[in-house]
Amino acid sequence: MRIDVVTGFPGLLAGPLDESILGKAREKGIVEIVVHDLRDYAPDRHRTIDDAPYGGGAGMILKAEPVFALVEFLTKQRRYDDVIYLSADGERFTQSSANALSMKDSLILLCGHYKGIDERIRQSLVTREISIGDYVLTGGELPALVLIDAIVRLIPGALHDGESMLTDSFQDGLLDAPSFTRPPDFRGMRVPEVLLSGNHEEIAAWRMAQRRSRTQERRTDLMEQT
Ligand code: SAM
Repeated sequence: MRIDVVTGFPGLLAGPLDESILGKAREKGIVEIVVHDLRDYAPDRHRTIDDAPYGGGAGMILKAEPVFALVEFLTKQRRYDDVIYLSADGERFTQSSANALSMKDSLILLCGHYKGIDERIRQSLVTREISIGDYVLTGGELPALVLIDAIVRLIPGALHDGESMLTDSFQDGLLDAPSFTRPPDFRGMRVPEVLLSGNHEEIAAWRMAQRRSRTQERRTDLMEQT
């Protein structure tokens, strides 16, 4: 899979893309992630990417010219499955959208900034708009990282133990079960006996019961959907 990120603030993405599962997935060639600096495509020598909104009002707007120039440069080189604009008013990102996106070949993630982006970019370049939740962030860079992380860990080979994702929260409509590791007794808090029993059937049944009760307790809305 290839993901191209379009941003005016590439430094916001650098660290997280190089660490942990994402860094390893890139090293192994499971995913190619390229971050592009919009300022390199700015129409003037000051590398300006924003301007004041027509009609007045507070906040600057990401200009159309650099975004069109960069996205058109990319789409001339390959076909993209989607040009996704990270946007507070887009469709809500869920585990099921992450599952579907993890099967795509190539995506462009467009990060807005300031008060937003020139609407003409949304009208003619963007094919999908995704929000990571009902709150407003400074820019689309953190939402882009959220999408990338959620998508890449689902690509076969990205996780050390690929099966672990199957019982993660939301994957089958339930939350995950509680986890414990050594020691069996820590400050008087004991690991449930069944997990020490070695009986795989009983452990599986315990975990499923925990997943159900935890989901019932914390997210009845999910129980209603299953
Ligand atoms: N004026 C916009 C509004 O009210 O919807 C908010 C602009 S926000 C300050 C700047 C940029 O951050 C947006 O263009 C978008 O790319 C990104 N952004 C902010 N909140 C987001 C969210 N919840 N999900 C995805 N992207 C978000």
